This record gives sequence, C-alpha cells and structure tokens, in this order.
Amino acid sequence: APRTVLISGCSSGIGLELAVQLAHDHRQRYRVVATMRDLGKKGTLETAAGEALGQTLTVAQLDVCSEESVAQCLSCIQGGEVDVLVNNAGVGLVGPLEGLSLAAMQNVLDTNFFGAVRLVRAVLPGMKRRRKGHIVVISSVMGLQGVVFNEIYAASKFALEGFFESLAVQLLQFNIFITLVEPGPVATDFEGKLLEQVSTTEFPDTDPDTLHYFRDIYLPASRELFRSVGQSPQDVAQVIVKVIGSARPPLRRQTNDRYTPLAALKAVDPSGSLYVRTTHCLLFRWTRLLNLGLRCLACGCLRFRIWPR
Ligand code: NAD
Repeated sequence: APRTVLISGCSSGIGLELAVQLAHDHRQRYRVVATMRDLGKKGTLETAAGEALGQTLTVAQLDVCSEESVAQCLSCIQGGEVDVLVNNAGVGLVGPLEGLSLAAMQNVLDTNFFGAVRLVRAVLPGMKRRRKGHIVVISSVMGLQGVVFNEIYAASKFALEGFFESLAVQLLQFNIFITLVEPGPVATDFEGKLLEQVSTTEFPDTDPDTLHYFRDIYLPASRELFRSVGQSPQDVAQVIVKVIGSARPPLRRQTNDRYTPLAALKAVDPSGSLYVRTTHCLLFRWTRLLNLGLRCLACGCLRFRIWPR
C-alpha cells in the first residue's frame, strides 16, 4: 500500500517541490498530503501537481503554530495514519540582535522548533502503535554551525538538532526513523522574504559599527553565497525523496557537498576556535577583497579553499 506522507509548508519552495516529486513517483509509492497555512496560496502547487492532484496528492490546511489546526488536519487524514512526516515549514530572521524584537524571535522558535514538536507529538502515538514511521526534519547547515547575524534562526535549527537526535534513540525501539536534512543556501522565496524584511526594518538601538557590518559586509556576502553555491529547491527535494525511499534512512543528510569542509572544521577542532576564526576571516577579511573589485579572484579563492567541488 502507498505510504501517507504529510508535509508542512507546501505553498512554496522545498515543500512544494518535494510534494510534487513524491506525488509523481513513477512507482506510486506515496499518497501526499501537502499542507499549507493559507489555502489561498494553493494555486502554484495545484498547477505543478497536474494530474496527480486528487490522485496521489491532496492539499490541506495546516498552521504549525496552532495545535487546533494540527488536530484538525490529522483528523481529515484517512485512518489518521501518517507514515512519513516532513517538518518543512519554517521562517528566517536576520539582523543585529539589538534591533530585533523579542516577539519576532519568539515567532521563529514557535514556527521552526515548536511547529515541528506539535506535529511530532500528534503523529507519534500512531507510529508507535504501528511500530513504523519516518520523521524528516528540514533543518539547515545552520543547525550544525552558527552564522553571524542569524543567531535566532540558527538557535531554532540547533534546537531541532538536539531534540530529534535525542528522540532518535528512543524511537529506534519502535522502528521509527528520524532524518535531519541540512541544506546550505537554497534559491527559494526564503532569502527574498528575509531581504524584504531587512529593507523595511530600522534596527533601533543598534550602534553604527554593527549596522555597518550587517548592511555593508554581511548582506553583500550573503547574496554572493546564495549566487555562488545556492542549490535549487528541485535538487534539495531530490535528496529528500531518496532519503524517504531508503530502507535505513540516516540521522543526518547534508545536501550541498561544498559545505562539508566547513562543517568538518568543528569536528577537527573541538575547542570551536577554528570554526569561529575561519568564518570571521571569510567575512571580515576576504569579503574586503570582494569590495575592492577582485571579485573573481576572491570568489575562486573562497570556493577553492572552503567549498572545493
Ligand atoms: P519558503 O519560504 O519557500 O518555504 C517555507 C514555507 O513555510 C512557506 O510556504 C511558508 O508559508 C511556510 N510557513 C511559515 N510559517 C508557517 C506556519 N506557521 N504554518 C505552516 N506553514 C508555514 O522557503 P524554503 O527555502 O522552501 O524553506 C523550507 C525549509 O527549508 C524551512 O524550514 C527553512 O528553514 C529550510 N531551509 C531553507 C534554506 C534556504 O536557503 N532557502 C536553507 C536551509 C534550510
């Protein structure tokens, strides 16, 4: 029988791509419940789903920040059984800490971390009863390493990593697997929404030096990173499809080879200094070269040393 896959955040990006790829599986192994907070945005997904709509893919409403919405969504699934849960819904937040509101920070944790916790608590009893299941979590390389001006977002992804690594131990007893997928930059609406947010935020209470580091050094470097090593949502979804199809899914799966050396810096030096100093150098020294017009030379250098192909 086809496995029921519930995915959160399918109105755009990785969630949308994943839903469509699974629904088009040529062996028809999946029945996809593609969920989104606002059903008014279902048009793009429905068009991309094509003939799969109403067959191997159905669309449902789900706000991961509402327990009521989670319960309502699960009650509409045939038999209430979810075989594969994909926690994909997420929001970003960048900027100097001093200039961000606590409410904005709490919203990131409530969506990215507690959103996944709400869904897991709802599907786990059924999975445990059936002694099978797979929980996939779209984490990030920022779940493995801190990134400047992304403190809260990274904290939300670190929280997911700790939570699910802990849970994975218990769930092996129930034949339930957990996979944390850790993409680097992905060309979705995600970055656009963040940049829009940043351009309309004043960042009060932030000193001029910090604002300069953020606006003139971090933001151009971040755009360059998305341009040079960014993956497409299709490529990331393909990796997730493989993970879902595997008999013994791994606990962690990075999607971008160019990030492996950066992640390895932490393993090589448990004191953490190597990672912090290297990323500091990358941002505050090497990007100065970018600003001097040595863009190609600097880019080549950056890729050669940190993201060798
Ligand atoms: P995206 O903005 O296209 O997708 C995120 C989706 O989550 C959106 O459809 C949004 O509407 C939905 N969402 C937000 N709050 C929600 C809520 N309360 N309930 C239900 N849905 C909600 O961006 P994306 O890149 O496809 O992001 C998907 C996941 O991938 C996120 O968890 C993100 O943190 C992660 N990720 C993204 C990148 C990147 O560079 N784009 C990199 C690593 C990890």
